[in-house]
Amino acid sequence: MPELRKDPVTGRWVIISTERRKRPNDFLFERPIIIGREQCPFCPGHEELTPPEVLAYRQNGGAPNSRDWMVRVVPNKFPALHVEGGLDREGDGMFDRMNGIGAHEVIIETPDHDKTFVTMSELEIERVLSAARERVLDLKQDRRLRYILVFKNQGATAGATLEHAHSQLIALPVVPDFVREEIEGARRHFAAKERCVFCDIVHQEMTKGVRVIQEAADIVALAPYAPRFPFETWLLPRRHASKFEDAPQHEYESLARVLKSVLTRIDRALESPAYNLIIHSAPFTDAFGADHSAADVYHWHVEILPKLARTAGFEWGTGFYINPTSPEEATRVLRAVKL
Ligand SMILES: [Zn+2]
Ligand SMILES: [Zn+2]
Ligand SMILES: [Zn+2]
Repeated sequence: MPELRKDPVTGRWVIISTERRKRPNDFLFERPIIIGREQCPFCPGHEELTPPEVLAYRQNGGAPNSRDWMVRVVPNKFPALHVEGGLDREGDGMFDRMNGIGAHEVIIETPDHDKTFVTMSELEIERVLSAARERVLDLKQDRRLRYILVFKNQGATAGATLEHAHSQLIALPVVPDFVREEIEGARRHFAAKERCVFCDIVHQEMTKGVRVIQEAADIVALAPYAPRFPFETWLLPRRHASKFEDAPQHEYESLARVLKSVLTRIDRALESPAYNLIIHSAPFTDAFGADHSAADVYHWHVEILPKLARTAGFEWGTGFYINPTSPEEATRVLRAVKL
């Protein structure tokens, strides 16, 4: 059973999951060994190589785990957290721990081994977003869980060990630090101005235009004012809403369109870099006990972080990033790409 332990100094939780070392490619150092097409557990016809699916979209409603799917969601074969059991929160002297309860699932985005968000159609990307939403809505019913992280590692240097396009979903019994930090910042802004900080960002950026990479009816893609990484890109709904899973269908359509074109711009301008894509959304329960609920102050969004620079000692030591590319320059480069 994996275990969650809390650092007594910073309050940060970590997952101790020694079982994951059973992964054939997990040694002391993570070596990017990519599993190719022949042994690919995500290709149609290889369904028995994954745990049984928890969701799939099939055109003609075929049997579960049969090969005619368009999107398929399966539990991760090497999960960081386990679904079964109690949390058993307990102290160990001054320390706090709980069992590593949660869910770790994989969204296989397409039956085609070689497709990516750049070559998939908008409709195919929208199906992936719908599958993510459906799984979040289902897992939310589990009262032990507080947060679901939906993310994607594209390319070996971003942490992908399988080249077949997929996203992951990790449901956690605690709210991760980055969400806590963003909600606390958003809450400070709201307390001072009674406005959502993300709505203010969208409004100001759309008025000025210098950091707007792409806009669609419902979603705007921009380079954040103070990006940690070169070509860091945020996609925000123009309408205020705190949760990804509650978005209306037309926002997913718009998001699919903007995702495809922004990733195509990044792909062409920067020679297909690896990247991480992360959905930031409000936690399930408002576990903060403050006067403004996360629904008022927080605004869901997608962050795309291309892997162009390495995080080194300075960044790890200070939490302070040195970014060699200004967001204004990144915007000019990405806007100049011909689609
Ligand atoms: Zn494959
Ligand atoms: Zn907002
Ligand atoms: Zn964020």
